[in-house]
Amino acid sequence: MGERKVGIMPTEHAMIPASTRLAQPSDWRKDYRDAITCPRELLAELGLEHLSHRVPADAAGFPLRVPRAFVARMRRGDPDDPLLRQVLPLDEETRYVPGFLTDAVGDLAARETRGLLHKYEGRALLVATGSCAVNCRYCFRRHFPYGEETAAANGWRAAIEHLLANTDIDEVLLSGGDPLSLSTAKLAELTDALRAAPHLRRLRIHSRLPVVLPARVDAALLDWLDSLPWPAVMVIHANHAQELDDSVAEACAALAARRVRLYNQSVLLRGVNDRAETLVALSEKLFEIGVQPYYLHQLDRVAGTAHFEVPEADALALYETLRARLPGYLLPRLVREVQGAPAKLPLSGTS
Ligand SMILES: *Cc1c(COP(=O)(O)O)cnc(C)c1O
Ligand code: SF4
Repeated sequence: MGERKVGIMPTEHAMIPASTRLAQPSDWRKDYRDAITCPRELLAELGLEHLSHRVPADAAGFPLRVPRAFVARMRRGDPDDPLLRQVLPLDEETRYVPGFLTDAVGDLAARETRGLLHKYEGRALLVATGSCAVNCRYCFRRHFPYGEETAAANGWRAAIEHLLANTDIDEVLLSGGDPLSLSTAKLAELTDALRAAPHLRRLRIHSRLPVVLPARVDAALLDWLDSLPWPAVMVIHANHAQELDDSVAEACAALAARRVRLYNQSVLLRGVNDRAETLVALSEKLFEIGVQPYYLHQLDRVAGTAHFEVPEADALALYETLRARLPGYLLPRLVREVQGAPAKLPLSGTS
């Protein structure tokens, strides 16, 4: 451990100009609140006012929300921009498609206690908060009744009790919503209490914030991660290489310098990343910024998201191309979530 602090960190720090925001007290909360929520404003920003008529009146019951830092990476004047497609409400979402449900992955059935999902051996997932910096149109969260279900309520009490009592749990996953929407102090409250659980061996955080609002990776967050008694794993969520600009690379370098292990998961989305070249470019870009590709998820069949689905046969064909094109260590696992299964399952072509 010591050798990284002495040997590597000064060099890595030397590569980050002292003037960057990582050295400053962060204003990420202001950027978080200042997200664009009005479709007309977003379209005007991109010179796409003519698309307004395709945005459903009430945003199909799931408001638009996107940080300006993410909008800045969208191409002006391109209605098919892969980042825009992930966040812009469209009238397709209001279509009823049989088989697309409101609780597609059985999360309500798997609930162990308030905000805690224990579906897989050894790993417990905390729904740390219902909030996200971005509202992704393909997300199951558009229907999940998070109001009553977040683990952070009551000072995390129910979650802490469960995690301390169940000694077969060795990994805690913070998910949501986006757990990094919470203040670092709130996160520290949880991890301070979990120090009393000798059976815990890893802490994993699933977050889209290092991608959509990299300013969230500030000095306080890095210090907290550094202070944890367990190895920390961060799974970022990026679907397209265009999401990964220099600010994201800088946030990832800062996390890696604190020995956080970085992985990425993506969702296979029609019109966003359903071409082999796009996914190859994503894996290569992830490698460049020190992030290991982990999962490529087949879309959960959530009501309002059918237009994003890539048919399973096409997904498998695409994956064979990827397997041939990428070194094995840059090939994400193509999986789907099946209700009641003991793990994420590889796509087999039979369901
Ligand atoms: C996806 C998921 C996990 C993590 O699965 P891994 O295969 O370890 O990444 C854990 N718990 C729940 C409830 C999940 O949905
Ligand atoms: S949970 Fe993840 S995919 Fe869903 S809206 Fe939040 S950031 Fe997007």
